[in-house]
Amino acid sequence: MKHDPSRAIFEMKQFGEFGDVNPSITDSATYTFLQAKTMADTFHGEAEGCFLYSRHWNPSNKYLADVLAAMEGTQEAWVTASGMAAITSAILQLCNAGDHIVSSVTTYGGTFAFMQNYLPKFNIKTTFVDITDLAAVRKAITPDTKLIYTESMTNPLLQISDIPALAAIANEYNVILMVDNTFTPMIIQPAALGAHVVVYSMTKFINGKNDCVAGAICGSREFISSLIDVNNGTAMLLGPALDPLRSSGILKNMHTLHIRMQQHSKNAMYLAVKMKEAGLKISYPGLPEHKGHEIMKSQMNPDFGFGGMLSIDMVTSERASRFMELMEMHDVGYLAVSLGYFKTLFSNSGKSTSSEVPQEVQHDMGLSEGLVRFSVGLDHDIEHTWNSIEKCLKMME
Ligand code: PLP
Repeated sequence: MKHDPSRAIFEMKQFGEFGDVNPSITDSATYTFLQAKTMADTFHGEAEGCFLYSRHWNPSNKYLADVLAAMEGTQEAWVTASGMAAITSAILQLCNAGDHIVSSVTTYGGTFAFMQNYLPKFNIKTTFVDITDLAAVRKAITPDTKLIYTESMTNPLLQISDIPALAAIANEYNVILMVDNTFTPMIIQPAALGAHVVVYSMTKFINGKNDCVAGAICGSREFISSLIDVNNGTAMLLGPALDPLRSSGILKNMHTLHIRMQQHSKNAMYLAVKMKEAGLKISYPGLPEHKGHEIMKSQMNPDFGFGGMLSIDMVTSERASRFMELMEMHDVGYLAVSLGYFKTLFSNSGKSTSSEVPQEVQHDMGLSEGLVRFSVGLDHDIEHTWNSIEKCLKMME
């Protein structure tokens, strides 16, 4: 039977100390033991169910991590204080000095900057490729390659990664495939498609409230244990642990994720069709003419649609700015970076979340300076939202 991410979450039974329907929040940094030996065993990872120190594990974080692992179908997960903490910790755990990464050139700008500007300090080099060009991925692999890195749906071009094909290449060369699934939780399940490690910015759809930054790493028990090893685990030693008060909030929001993803997708599809009919240069993976449409169909869970992200090309950054200002004024949503919020958010990617990517690379990858990325909200009356967008378009003429 196919793995159903929403059922996997629904069937989790997690209670609080007094039978509370929500697990108790543990707001302690440290934990006491009755016997010194148990503490020593816990340090060596040999005492089941015992907690040592909250940079390592906290019960509230464990509840959230267990739900994430259930959703992803991975053995384990670990939660971090931001999406970037998840990405950087997982990469630094896997790569040593002298190693090489093959990455999609269209990734979140912070990830691009980490690979392009920061990792060379440790003599870790990255070759950026068009991740939809499998021959280019293969060609970029060297004997030093440790990792193929991509996003299921890339930021901001909304390309669709062929995860089974990338996993086959990774397995052939004995390297790890790491996938950022921030744009498509529940819709795409990278681990079930062959990815070895899945990372998230939970700041986005998973939490859905825009009230905190958070991240997650999902993978094998062996990998998660290595991350928090007291002697050489990147997460344990760099210390990007999530605050348990935040994790308890995210945990509750995860129980509505399936409904939210359906509504984001439904609204995005509605707007995409209207925008196409209006003659706009639109990119949405749910439209048949999108280059990744068929691949997306072959690997998505259709119950949750094609996601809440779409983009339109306003050609110049000046037109993009004016359009966004008008939309904010006419209550379409907010001119803001980030995504996965209950309100629609829009931003000009080249000047914001991809501004770390040099102009010439933006140009080469096909990122127009006028690209406006939308994270479509949970609007009940999306027809009314479209009418407002149309009004703004008329004002642009
Ligand atoms: N991955 C993707 C696809 C993103 O869009 C972002 C942030 O915008 C991140 C990772 C980084 O996440 P965070 O801001 O939670 O550190």
